[in-house]
Amino acid sequence: NINCIPPTSLNLEYGRQIETGNYGTVYEGKLNNTKVAIKVPKAGILPNELIVREITALLACRHKNIVRMFGAYTFDTACVLVFEFMSGGSLQNYLKDQRKAGLVPNTLVLMHIAFQIAEGMIYIENHNMVHRDLATRNILLGEKIDGIPIAKISDFGLARQLNDGGVYQMASDLALPARWYAPETFQTYEFTIQNDVWSFGVLLFEMFTFGNTPPKVRHNERLRKPQHCCEYIYNDIMMSCWKQEPALRPSFSFLRDTILGYLTDFF
Ligand code: ADP
Repeated sequence: NINCIPPTSLNLEYGRQIETGNYGTVYEGKLNNTKVAIKVPKAGILPNELIVREITALLACRHKNIVRMFGAYTFDTACVLVFEFMSGGSLQNYLKDQRKAGLVPNTLVLMHIAFQIAEGMIYIENHNMVHRDLATRNILLGEKIDGIPIAKISDFGLARQLNDGGVYQMASDLALPARWYAPETFQTYEFTIQNDVWSFGVLLFEMFTFGNTPPKVRHNERLRKPQHCCEYIYNDIMMSCWKQEPALRPSFSFLRDTILGYLTDFF
């Protein structure tokens, strides 16, 4: 049962349309006077059993670095999703705006954002989930505190709960975000938290290249060090996420600690 906000007792007001995404249209709105984002699915996206199971898992997620889902309700057979409102838009747009403003990447701010994403991913890992679409387009920003925006992981469009072996078995590679995916994903069609770690490395690369789409790389190649990225972040953080052997990649806890160490040592 996903009528977590029963339509009858619903105090949901729709405001202006923000954007159209893959799932459907995103509106600004209010739920009992709290500002929210409302996602209304495109025609044809029906709440099948899989979506219902995912939504149930997401409703249970409570973490300061994960965009809170307040509720989901079925409406004309479609499933409308209600989220906490994030005033700063996506990290990708933030990076693109910085380029337009003629700024160079601010390593301190970016690493504080990376730290927050790692914190959210630790929660996801601890709850036996995977994200599967970790990229700057799926990080939303909130208010700034001392110049650092609050960052939260969103868009669990692909998020899945894992089986007992910590693996999610994919049906096919249709529409997968291949540039963010570890090479073995396309051999095994299995997705684990180590694959999210690979994507986290690609996300860091995006951060230092103003949110550009990363170039495609061959199986044994790696993305090159971005101009504005220091050797340490490239060699010790990004490259460690891209180790060929998934088991040798760092955990999100290790990444969080490494980023924290970097922030403490250099700033
Ligand atoms: P989809 O997953 O369907 O492609 P997204 O989740 O990427 O859609 O949302 C599209 C856009 O809508 C985002 O880039 C962002 O600008 C806006 N948006 C989505 N969720 C929120 C939110 N919780 N708060 C504020 N804006 C949001």
